[in-house]
Amino acid sequence: SIRVRFAPSPTGMFHVGGARSALFNWVMAKQSGGTLVLRIEDTDASRNSPEWTEGIIRALAWLGMDGGEYEGPYFQSANADRHAEAARTLREQGRAYYCDCTRERVIERTGDSNKGYDGFCRDRGLEAGPGRALRFRTPDEGETVVVDLLRGKPTFENAVLEDFVIARADGSVTFLLANAVDDMSQGITHVVRGEEHLSNAPKQQLLWEALGGTPPVWAHVPVIVNEQRKKLSKRRDKVALEDYRAEGYLAEAMRNYLMLLGWAPSGDREIVPWEVIVEEFRIEDVNSSPAFFDVKKLKAINGDYIRMLPVEKFVAECLPFLEDAPFEVDMEVFNQLAPLAQTRVALLSEIVPMVDFAFLDEPVSDEQSWTKAMKEPAAEILAAVEESYRDARWTAEELKNRLEQVGTAHGLKLGKTQAPVRVATTGRTVGLPLFESLEILGRDRTLARIAAARA
Ligand code: GLU
Repeated sequence: SIRVRFAPSPTGMFHVGGARSALFNWVMAKQSGGTLVLRIEDTDASRNSPEWTEGIIRALAWLGMDGGEYEGPYFQSANADRHAEAARTLREQGRAYYCDCTRERVIERTGDSNKGYDGFCRDRGLEAGPGRALRFRTPDEGETVVVDLLRGKPTFENAVLEDFVIARADGSVTFLLANAVDDMSQGITHVVRGEEHLSNAPKQQLLWEALGGTPPVWAHVPVIVNEQRKKLSKRRDKVALEDYRAEGYLAEAMRNYLMLLGWAPSGDREIVPWEVIVEEFRIEDVNSSPAFFDVKKLKAINGDYIRMLPVEKFVAECLPFLEDAPFEVDMEVFNQLAPLAQTRVALLSEIVPMVDFAFLDEPVSDEQSWTKAMKEPAAEILAAVEESYRDARWTAEELKNRLEQVGTAHGLKLGKTQAPVRVATTGRTVGLPLFESLEILGRDRTLARIAAARA
């Protein structure tokens, strides 16, 4: 059975692209009864932090992958002896050699800073020593064929692959070696990762072969781009999974959407139950061209997922957002508002401005909304509505009827009559259905707010 892995470097906020790779691997493991290994590639001590590692593990758990779903986490740093031993073996076998060339010297010789290493030290027989890096000797002839499930058989001329560094002058091993050695020792059969690593694949495949392994099958999944077709980057775009979570995206929606980055389920659908995704996903069907991260589509999908929740679940999902809100929430009141709000929010964070009118002593006051709604004949309408509501049966239906009557008397349509009342009672020009909101707000508060608005 297959063994796949997810091998993030804990050097920053966990990125949606990483989450997509993790999900692809997870689904592949699940659908074949295989294993997903989580390996934290923490060898760059200057850029790592335990905080980022925790962030990765927390994010995976949020998406549904806890310790029961993967083997590990393993830490690459714990494998240092094995990496060093692989470097030694390659050297002993004559597959690697020491080199003392500085970059400047190489460029001097080749006259081209893009050219890569020229093999100068190949046969100089240098011993290990200060300032000497260990380079892997790539074959002079033939080609390295990388079997990639998305890209066919990318073929690399060995003569063009430079002799790359596997251990630096300070003895530390490079990503290329550590990553390949870990994949080998962890029995990985399929390497599914971002496209940016495609150029590493032939080099790593040569390492596998030199170390006596059977190379894995590769799958380099497409880059993710923004609206301008530029690679998603943390400078330009919102990329941290954590930020999406904080804005009120549901894990189920996020997970569903991330699976659509390069792949589509049958039947032109976008909202697909997780079980169906697990059943239908084929890594071979993932498109190799860039995947557009469409935040609008994600948001629409999130709204659909929110609407599919049982109302109690919706309430539970709202709680963390309400806890951070600048008011005390009476849960009895919130439970009444929740069904009205559930059909209207696309992000959970939108709940706060939608329900604040029910919990604040006074509705928010936003200049613009007030000026807009309180145009003539707002004062007369508010007076008439206040009067009419004083003895009204306090049901949404009756409140609507009474307001309509006021409107008719002033020759106004419902929408126009409603506007000043909505702003007076909720502080906003848009929101939940007004009459249900007033029913929940209650007579005393409604009348007091209308009176205050008139003052
Ligand atoms: N640590 C590497 C990264 O995060 C892993 C690449 C791979 O999956 O092989 O880019």
